[in-house]
Amino acid sequence: MLINHIVLKGLVEEILIAGGSDMPEAEIVADHLVLANLSGHDSHGVGMIPNYVRNLKAKVLHPNQHVERLRQDGSILVFDGKAGYGQVIAREAMNEAIDVARDTGLALTALRNAHHIGRVGTYGEQCADAGLVSLHFVNVTGHKPYVAPHRGSDGRFGTNPICIALPDTTDEPRIILDFATSKVALGKVRVANNSGLKMPEGLLLDSDGNPTTDPAVMWEDKPGALLPIAEHKGYGLALMCELLSGAIGGGGTLQPKNTRDTRIINNMLSILIDPSRLTDPSFIASEMKAMCDYARQSPPREGYGNVLVPGDPERQFREERMANGIVIDDETWRQFVEAAAELGVTVA
Ligand code: NAD
Repeated sequence: MLINHIVLKGLVEEILIAGGSDMPEAEIVADHLVLANLSGHDSHGVGMIPNYVRNLKAKVLHPNQHVERLRQDGSILVFDGKAGYGQVIAREAMNEAIDVARDTGLALTALRNAHHIGRVGTYGEQCADAGLVSLHFVNVTGHKPYVAPHRGSDGRFGTNPICIALPDTTDEPRIILDFATSKVALGKVRVANNSGLKMPEGLLLDSDGNPTTDPAVMWEDKPGALLPIAEHKGYGLALMCELLSGAIGGGGTLQPKNTRDTRIINNMLSILIDPSRLTDPSFIASEMKAMCDYARQSPPREGYGNVLVPGDPERQFREERMANGIVIDDETWRQFVEAAAELGVTVA
């Protein structure tokens, strides 16, 4: 299936409205999901709709919620997401944090209990577009763990993403580093499973803890596990996401006594910094440009393309997919159409 992004966004809005969302919410969530597809992150695109429909029906995802500020203490903000669409909730929390960071130079936010916030880079981009540097640490709770700790053989974590984002300067577009701390996002395993493809070696364990390339192991009754990035270092980052957003941020961790069903809850600890309070913006611009050029100009190793800077791949994908359309594999499309039908929406 090859589909134009504007047509796809319209369909997603229709499904979300049928699921109880008002138009502003449907627009924000649809924009977010379609932008994830446009950016090359199909794992966090419209393929999430069947999960959202399942959670709407289970009444663990609540439409038309707005973020609630529980506390403000100087530059520190604590928010409850009320299990609303994370794309709306996290955006509203970041809007408040941006105002504080513009005022004081710094904001620290703990967002709890948002339903799936999607592609975390979206919030890095939101802060970058406001001229701010931002760091985001996220955990994923409310359902089974999928990521094994280093040396472990079964899942104990979510795919706990981290995002670090820098605003654009006069010479360099914004830099958005945004990744899961598992070697691969669960959604990418879902896309492979839906497409009937094997995963590359070294990413997955089966339910007995043995290496496998079969993506289906993640959907067995006793699921397999994803491996963390960078051995003990990635495991350390995943644990820190859990502890920063889940324990210190107050949202709760994936420890087994906390609720587990089908919900996808994200907690996010974010730090926003106004870089102009630290250094002269023209110095930042010239150093960023010089350093990024220096990295990009390293001659590529045999078999590799040119060196990129984080954020470059998403820019390239957006250009290509806006012009030529978004490819959605048959099984993901089938599930999307089926989920729409459950809410009474016919997708031709
Ligand atoms: P990924 O492995 O594709 O890595 C993406 C990051 O790496 C981007 O910053 C990209 O610009 C950069 N990058 C890619 N190729 C590069 C290259 N050659 N040179 C330099 N930089 C390069 O991402 P992922 O781990 O699969 O995560 C995908 C998305 O899933 C992310 O947006 C993440 O936020 C999201 N996610 C969300 C949740 C959640 O619970 N909400 C959980 C896990 C992941």
